[in-house]
Amino acid sequence: MIALQRWWKRGVLAFLGLAIASSVLSLNGPPRLMAAPQPQTLRVATRLIPPFVMEEGGKLTGFSIELWQKIADQMGVRSTLTPYPTLPKMFAAVEQQNADLAIAAISITAEREQKFDFSYPIFASGLKIMVRNPNRSGFVPNLLRDLLSPALLQIIGLALAMIVIAAHLIWLFERRHPHSSISEKYFPGIFEAAWWAASTLATQAEEMPRGALGRVMAIFWMFISVLFVAYFTATVTAGMTVQNLQGDIKSVEDLKGRAVATTANSTAAAFLQGRQLQVLEVDKIEAAYAALANKQVDAVLFDAPVLMYYAARDGQGKVQLVGETVRDENYGILLPINSPYRKEINRALLKLKEDGTSEALHDKWFNPER
Ligand code: GLU
Repeated sequence: MIALQRWWKRGVLAFLGLAIASSVLSLNGPPRLMAAPQPQTLRVATRLIPPFVMEEGGKLTGFSIELWQKIADQMGVRSTLTPYPTLPKMFAAVEQQNADLAIAAISITAEREQKFDFSYPIFASGLKIMVRNPNRSGFVPNLLRDLLSPALLQIIGLALAMIVIAAHLIWLFERRHPHSSISEKYFPGIFEAAWWAASTLATQAEEMPRGALGRVMAIFWMFISVLFVAYFTATVTAGMTVQNLQGDIKSVEDLKGRAVATTANSTAAAFLQGRQLQVLEVDKIEAAYAALANKQVDAVLFDAPVLMYYAARDGQGKVQLVGETVRDENYGILLPINSPYRKEINRALLKLKEDGTSEALHDKWFNPER
């Protein structure tokens, strides 16, 4: 009897258990074997730097943004993009885990590699020098600049000294000659002699000395004048051509003693500081373009693709890139050390390279006519 009661109790308990379990299950729907993967949302830090990252109609676009979208598609993740105003703020976002990664035009450097991890390179870049277009100042300012050049002022000084000497000799030789047009008195005689020397130098003399010594002197002076005119013409035209073709900054060596603008904390700023050059550091590269235009600085040192994009568009006719690439650099995606996404991002980058997507994107932004 007792055994039967126990069995009955057990039966009731089992029934209740089943009922509760089935009602819970029915509330939650049929049991699922595997939870459907929820797409992850990665927080991406970025920074405006055309043509890698730019804003158009309230939306972010550019090479790096489109590349990231392709990577995210490959990884099957969603993402939110947050632009940061400065490089340090973008780096801090990744370091303080406010962002899972950063993509813009971030150069891979040994120093950054200490604090962060990088993806495989996403773009081959390098630093270049940009200057104001020297032909843009107009004819009159250019001519004034050439006329006031130190080389020309030196030649004019030399010509004046030579005229003074020649005038004294001619005055000494000619002053006593009865038919001479030069007075015997020092004043105005010396002025008349200087006038003759100057007009001979310009190969325009009206009268010639009458005395024998005066004539010998005149022949000497005429030879010197011909040589002088040739020398003068050569120096002035060579100077003008070189200045008009290249301005006077052609390489990093020419940046000594000049103010150069670039963005704060960039690789270009570190390069300039490393060479004890004068740097104007700005947050946005556009501010460096403005500083160059208003002559606050004489050059901008920055990432070549960024400068080339500006020079071909808003800066057309106003600026010029000069010299060789100062240093080669690669851009990468910035990640915290040991990021769980690095491997997947690298895999996506390799796939995009293999299927031609990377090249198509490169052509779209950098060789549009192809
Ligand atoms: N490539 C430069 C760097 O990583 C970009 C600087 C910038 O975004 O202003 O330093």
